[in-house]
Amino acid sequence: MATRAHDVVTMEKIVALCKRRGFVFPSSEIYGGLASTYDYGHYGVLLKSNVKAAWWRAMVQERDDIVALDAAILMHPRTWEASGHLEGFTDPLVQCLGRCKKRWREDHIRAEEAVMAADEAPEADPGAVPREELRCPECGGELSEPRNFNLMFQTFIGPVQEDAARIFLRPETAQGIFVNFKNTLQFARKKPPFGIAQVGKSFRNEITPGNFLFRTREFEQMEMEFFVPPDEAENWFDYWLEERMNWYLDLGLRPDHVRLREHSADELSHYSSATSDVEYLFPIGWSELEGIANRGDFDLNQHARFSGEKMEYVDSGSGERFVPHVIEPAAGADRAALAFMVDAYDEEEVEGRSRTVLRLHPRLAPVKAAVLPLVNKDGQPELAREIYEELRALMAAEYDAGGSIGRRYRRQDEIGTPFGVTVDHQTLEDATVTLRDRDSLEQTRVPRAELAGELGRRLAAPWRSPKLG
Ligand code: ATP
Repeated sequence: MATRAHDVVTMEKIVALCKRRGFVFPSSEIYGGLASTYDYGHYGVLLKSNVKAAWWRAMVQERDDIVALDAAILMHPRTWEASGHLEGFTDPLVQCLGRCKKRWREDHIRAEEAVMAADEAPEADPGAVPREELRCPECGGELSEPRNFNLMFQTFIGPVQEDAARIFLRPETAQGIFVNFKNTLQFARKKPPFGIAQVGKSFRNEITPGNFLFRTREFEQMEMEFFVPPDEAENWFDYWLEERMNWYLDLGLRPDHVRLREHSADELSHYSSATSDVEYLFPIGWSELEGIANRGDFDLNQHARFSGEKMEYVDSGSGERFVPHVIEPAAGADRAALAFMVDAYDEEEVEGRSRTVLRLHPRLAPVKAAVLPLVNKDGQPELAREIYEELRALMAAEYDAGGSIGRRYRRQDEIGTPFGVTVDHQTLEDATVTLRDRDSLEQTRVPRAELAGELGRRLAAPWRSPKLG
């Protein structure tokens, strides 16, 4: 059954907050925007950087079996022949033959139908909706025969627009990793099991982009290919399912809003023998955050075949050689950022006034501490500025002296700043400041000299979403 979040949060509220507070804007807005394309503003950049930093930290900094890579977006076109994308990276496109003429992904319409059918008759087989019975979700019109539509963006390299110069914007970062398997093996002195991690832009000419940052045509992926001895693949697959679930939970997503969903046999990609998705309960229902796939030896074998290079691991001691199998956790940075915002969004009444607050994990919050002089006179702004300059050497901090203190708190709450530091007349007398907690609204008096240490302690402490009660 399709479940919906019972939160106050809606996608519209997130879009509005993102615009109001400068997280995300429609792209090229002065020209009317470009469909489903977005630009990140200041706080959006900081939030997404923190998501990516948390991923790098978990993948590389806290381990010694994964190394980093940053491959080019433009790759040799043979890459996409070998990977199967040229042939098979398609979605089934259907067009409404009725009134609205809209284009849809047939598999999406099927999935919606299946959810509705399961609501009505849970024991029925959802895969069994006959094609002729599918209707346009917008106007109920008949649908065309499905056509395989390739999602890769094409362009030309160099000045001549001819077939020989045709290249593609990468639709996933993974292939950059596979083609660098040998380079990495040589320099990194690793042996399987080991991984290569990469973060970067990918491009897909999606038929139906939408739901804000959830599905766009240009997006950022965080992908890691973990190369293992073939007989260890299943164990490592299970290992990465658990690791990746825990990553989201440790960063504060509520456990009842995250789940693992195993792909059925007919959902599996051409390269995969097993895939499970980490899904999040967005306001649009349960949707994929990340896919974890057992890709077997498909990619390395394909690149060996197309390039003529041997893509195998040879043990220098025993001489043993094998083509490693690959476990791939593939996540989206934009989707993750959206999920963290959705999960964090909250509204509450405080002393008769409503406030909107992003209860982000402090590690993800764009700004960790805001330093605010209570009044904009009597030496308070100067002292607050001094404290701010001390703090910003240690963490993302902000100084704000403009407007009433209530308005400034509201602004910080909406961008998810976990700590407010207020400088008042007492600070000038006894060198203490007020430390305000975003979630509990508790205010404590802290000696200025102990402020940085206290903030450091609070930022490092385990964190649990206050929305859990
Ligand atoms: P979907 O079924 O939603 O089209 P997918 O299964 O094709 O996604 P993968 O190829 O597994 O996606 O990509 C890995 C991750 O990259 C996804 O889990 C998602 O977080 C992100 N991603 C993929 N496509 C998009 C997109 N169009 N916009 C934003 N993020 C995306």
